[in-house]
Amino acid sequence: MQITWTQEQRERREKFRRFGAEQVAPGAAERDRSGTFHSDSWKALADEGFWTAHVPVEHGGEGGSLWDFLAGLEGLALGADDSGFVLTAVAHAGLVHVLLEHGTTEQKARLLPPLMSGAVGATAATEPTGGSHVAAVHTRATVHDGGRWLLSGDKSHITNAPVADILLVVGRLDGIGKRDITLFVVDRGMTGVSTGEPEDLLGQRTSPTGPIHLRNVPVTEANIVGPAGDGLTTLYSFLAFDRLMYGIVVASQLEALLPATIARTSSRQAFGTAIGNHEYVQDKVVAMRTTVEASRHLAYAAADALIRRDSSYNALASCAKLAASEGGVTSALELVQIFGHSGYDRTQGVERRLRDAVAIRIAGGTTEMQKKNIYKDVVERFATQGS
Ligand SMILES: Cc1cc2nc3c(=O)[nH]c(=O)nc-3n(C[C@H](O)[C@H](O)[C@H](O)COP(=O)(O)OP(=O)(O)OC[C@H]3O[C@@H](n4cnc5c(N)ncnc54)[C@H](O)[C@@H]3O)c2cc1C
Repeated sequence: MQITWTQEQRERREKFRRFGAEQVAPGAAERDRSGTFHSDSWKALADEGFWTAHVPVEHGGEGGSLWDFLAGLEGLALGADDSGFVLTAVAHAGLVHVLLEHGTTEQKARLLPPLMSGAVGATAATEPTGGSHVAAVHTRATVHDGGRWLLSGDKSHITNAPVADILLVVGRLDGIGKRDITLFVVDRGMTGVSTGEPEDLLGQRTSPTGPIHLRNVPVTEANIVGPAGDGLTTLYSFLAFDRLMYGIVVASQLEALLPATIARTSSRQAFGTAIGNHEYVQDKVVAMRTTVEASRHLAYAAADALIRRDSSYNALASCAKLAASEGGVTSALELVQIFGHSGYDRTQGVERRLRDAVAIRIAGGTTEMQKKNIYKDVVERFATQGS
């Protein structure tokens, strides 16, 4: 398993850390208050080549490895100080990943160039009736005429929906029997596709999130990604990738907070000494560091399993997500505690970390869903060994 970046990957990580710090971070607190997506930075990110790293040369990419892309993502999350902007990148990366893994040559040739140059992607599974039980979606493509269907349904809480150009939609396909879950890729400009008002969320407020409405959208085989009727397998591989990215992103975001944390614990005095000399305070910093390392290395292990096509991929990705989301919330809560009243003050920039962190327990599959995945994997792997 690779856990040491090459020189080129280190340079890429540093390039996008600097991009995040210089281009994205300024104004992040203000955008959090107003709920504004930094669309200029989104275009600039594409112009800097963020999306080309692991896309094959024949589709306009650099032909690198998944690690090359992850190095850039890790750098961006380290520098950006704008969790919503990074969440938008994670959602977009999920669509790129599905196309790379499951798209046809025609779909890659048609969709990857715009997705690498500033178009925004979204992946829509959740519906107003629920998100955890993804196989229970109601969105459905009904037979229209030979080789054509009309896709209708509603999606909610979709990252990037208000600004997305290309949407991956989880639905059902009529006429193919019981296993009918299918993924459809549609353009925002297609007849019958519309989006609603951005949602007013607790955290991740700089990432535009909202509903998608589909009314008799005409789709053909060219809109189907992965095998028709086997969309759950395709969706699970997307979700696992999403989850491993959360491990990388949360680790970097927490790591970026450590210098300010140590500056505070070293300078703030209580009982005649720096608060960092009190062991209960040290304990909180230790927990932050442990979350950084656990999330990151579980994510690396999941990426390695993905590259090797190892069956541990799904469970490792859930482990990474669980460590990142639960550790992220605990760390952010304790960060508020370390900063005391300043941590609780909305003008000081600490409490936003907690609001952002809570979202990661829900987006990409809740904490409970990760536990279900991990438990199922343990049973499948180890049940027979004990008997
Ligand atoms: C910031 C953000 C961004 C998001 N972006 C996207 C996106 O891009 N695309 C998308 O499709 N969705 C997105 N979502 C939606 C997200 O995937 C869903 O909110 C999530 O899957 C949970 O669905 P739900 O909210 O309907 O909760 P429900 O499914 O109604 O579940 C409610 C509660 O019950 C628990 N629960 C349900 N079933 C079980 C069970 N069997 N055992 C134990 N507990 C259970 C859940 O864990 C949860 O705590 C986003 C959400 C957020 C917060």
